[in-house]
Amino acid sequence: MSKALVIGNWKMNLDYVEAVHLTQQIAALLASRPVERVDVAVAPPFVDLRSVTSVLEAERASIAVAAQHVSDRDNGAFTGEVSVAMLKRLGVSSVIVGHSERRTMYHMDDALVASTVRAVLRGGLDAVLCVGEDLVTREAEDHESFVSGQLTSALTGVEEFSEHVTVAYEPIWAIGTGMTATSTQIDAMMTTIRTQLASLGFVSSRVLYGGSVNADNAGEIVTEGGVDGFLVGGASLKTESFGAIVHACNDCYAERR
Ligand code: PEP
Repeated sequence: MSKALVIGNWKMNLDYVEAVHLTQQIAALLASRPVERVDVAVAPPFVDLRSVTSVLEAERASIAVAAQHVSDRDNGAFTGEVSVAMLKRLGVSSVIVGHSERRTMYHMDDALVASTVRAVLRGGLDAVLCVGEDLVTREAEDHESFVSGQLTSALTGVEEFSEHVTVAYEPIWAIGTGMTATSTQIDAMMTTIRTQLASLGFVSSRVLYGGSVNADNAGEIVTEGGVDGFLVGGASLKTESFGAIVHACNDCYAERR
């Protein structure tokens, strides 16, 4: 049976000392109450990555490490950027690509998302592709075609890497707002996304949900929303809430592909 996936996106929070502390706590929690149906990953800021991978190696914890972003270039004169090879060398196994905060605040357009996905896959890491509509698009009922367009733009021609791509559906209006999408809305989008993925040749990609997921709503979203796991922002910064989401997912997830 394939597993669900829960990723904690720490965003620009936690210096390396705080990151080490949270990592140790999460590792201890999952050691005392292991999960069989869920892969777990954390996505710390770049400067914390080495410390976090070291702690996880020392603890022999089966928690993967993701980066929140990466350059689409291999190396060279790109001040401030970080390459896929650098991340791989640090023990990072996947990269979040096209998070809505990067798309809206840092001008990451569809073309850059697509070239970044290619750089990640070509470099041997897994890509966690974020898609999702804003409120205006949702209210205009254009969300299905908008998200399908984002998938087509990012994933056309890379179907050979199908097993290395995860999609995170994150409606922008639900991120960090406390306004979670309903299970019905999520379930409908899971169907749209899986249909579009299949038409692009992606049959084994997991599809996650992100947007104000917390300990109280996670179980229902897995059961009723048909998701393969979560990309968690705010609630991933506390061991208790992140652990509760992971355990809810473990309790409720049943393979559905
Ligand atoms: C996110 O930023 O990916 C996210 C889902 O954030 P939050 O859980 O805080 O809504």
